[in-house]
Amino acid sequence: MSIAENIAQVRNRIAAAARRAGRNSDQITLMAVSKTFPAESIREAYAAGLRVFGENRVQEFAGKAAALRDLSDAQWHLIGHLQTNKAAKAAELFDAVDSIDSVRMAEKLNGFAEGAGKTLSVLIEINVGGEQAKSGIAPGSDELEQILQGAPRWANLKIQGLMTVPPYTEDPEGSRPYFRQLRQIRDFIAACDLPQIGTSVLSMGMSHDFEVAIEEGATCVRVGTAIFGERGKP
Ligand SMILES: *Cc1c(COP(=O)(O)O)cnc(C)c1O
Repeated sequence: MSIAENIAQVRNRIAAAARRAGRNSDQITLMAVSKTFPAESIREAYAAGLRVFGENRVQEFAGKAAALRDLSDAQWHLIGHLQTNKAAKAAELFDAVDSIDSVRMAEKLNGFAEGAGKTLSVLIEINVGGEQAKSGIAPGSDELEQILQGAPRWANLKIQGLMTVPPYTEDPEGSRPYFRQLRQIRDFIAACDLPQIGTSVLSMGMSHDFEVAIEEGATCVRVGTAIFGERGKP
């Protein structure tokens, strides 16, 4: 199947999940996760109407960005773990960083965004499963508290909500408790009504579990394989 056909199918599945949950699918952004795929694949997805793209490595996207510069209304999101030595490049290349997981990274990105004369949209990544190997902040941790308190200092970051990658389970139902937990954390933060903390975005759900995520309140689903096909193993 072509990328356009895959996107049509994913859109149908999003619409069906939204209907089941009594939600409007206009409230759900389909992000195309284009990591490992070339600029031409991204163009195909763009031609099929997608405007929001996720990449997980700064260096990889740096190699594709020049070939995509004419897609001026596309939004480029970094969704993978960011190392501090790549923060300047990330602030330059991306419109959004959906994987903020420390105060230190927020400080750095804010400084580089200011230098580049732009405002970056950001999400706080929460490690809901508490997995050692995964990035993201532990729910209820001091680090999370400090990011929430620090936001007014970062004039060039616009915090919009939360992101998570739950532990992988074969059965997509296994993700449901984690998605529900992210939503509860979001609701709790929203109720605190903190300055400069937006809570409207819940980025959760990938190719195998995005329907469950939508049922649990996702406003952005990050879909790679179901759009572009299987990724080659590096
Ligand atoms: C790769 C990736 C995705 C997309 O995964 P698929 O299973 O291919 O849909 C989503 N989110 C993040 C953070 C990723 O790294």
